[in-house]
Amino acid sequence: EAKKRGKNCYHIYSSAIACEASRKLRVERALHDMTLDTELKLQFQPIFCRDGKVLRGFEALVRWQSPELGFVSPAEFIPIAEECAKINVLGQWVFREALSFMSEHNCEGLFMSVNVSPLQLQSGMFVPWLKQLFAQYDVSPQQFKIELTESAMMMVEDSLIEPLEQLHELGFGIYIDDFGTGFSSLARLSVLPVDGLKIDRAFIDGIECAGSARQLIEAICAIAKSFDLEVTAEGIETPEQLAVLGVLHCQQSQGYLMSKPLKRQAAAELLIQTYGRPYLELVTQ
Ligand code: C2E
Ligand code: MG
Ligand code: MG
Ligand code: MG
Repeated sequence: EAKKRGKNCYHIYSSAIACEASRKLRVERALHDMTLDTELKLQFQPIFCRDGKVLRGFEALVRWQSPELGFVSPAEFIPIAEECAKINVLGQWVFREALSFMSEHNCEGLFMSVNVSPLQLQSGMFVPWLKQLFAQYDVSPQQFKIELTESAMMMVEDSLIEPLEQLHELGFGIYIDDFGTGFSSLARLSVLPVDGLKIDRAFIDGIECAGSARQLIEAICAIAKSFDLEVTAEGIETPEQLAVLGVLHCQQSQGYLMSKPLKRQAAAELLIQTYGRPYLELVTQ
């Protein structure tokens, strides 16, 4: 009897793996056939100052509507795009689109944060390509932040230092995304040209109550302060969470409480609300 059950378990297990593998294969194939301009869209999640009131910038987040698979989350397809080298053209599309938004809406004083895969940086082509792209627009790299996940930052060791330093020299801000979920050594934090941290949503959960979650975020903010790093808190969903961050070393806030990621048009409308008529005229011209 036990033997029989064991065999069943094995079947369930192996068919789950097979199912996952075939999904991955389908995503890979759909990525391969993708036409960037029709299947991808960029959304823009507003980022506010610490009290959640003043708009400071946006994070660009890619959305994929595949003709075969329907909506696929970036959390699923970005790692697959990294494996099949599609990440380079995809990442270029994202940057072009984000830059065109900034240029179209004359977002002076606001920043745009773009997620970049370490593989893009390692390709050696990315930095020269970016330099040439920005030469075509009237927007300064100073208005752009590059977000690299903490695990990426630490994993690839020294191959990232040179491209990161080049980007920094061009004026781009460098941010560690999902901070706290990887294994950064504090020693490396001081070696890399890093301007800020984005604290992962997982660390925001529970900070409204006194306890270990609160202590942890206080500690992270204190470390950031001592390294002179800017802090953005991600995934803020309640006013209580926002209030806690207000008394810590945390300059920016981002989360569903203030705004979900917005379509291009809705982000443009937010700019109109924020800055009034001059932007309305720009947008409707
Ligand atoms: P991320 O860079 O850490 O982005 C934050 C994610 O949290 C986004 O998910 C955003 O929609 C979500 N989020 C923001 N506020 C809240 C909140 O209050 N509550 C909850 N529950 N979620 C919130 P999304 O858009 O699904 O992106 C997932 C990840 O995919 C991103 O995490 C990023 O690592 C990656 N990604 C997205 N776009 C790009 C891209 O253009 N290039 C690269 N390389 N990676 C990207
Ligand atoms: Mg990010
Ligand atoms: Mg993040
Ligand atoms: Mg994340």
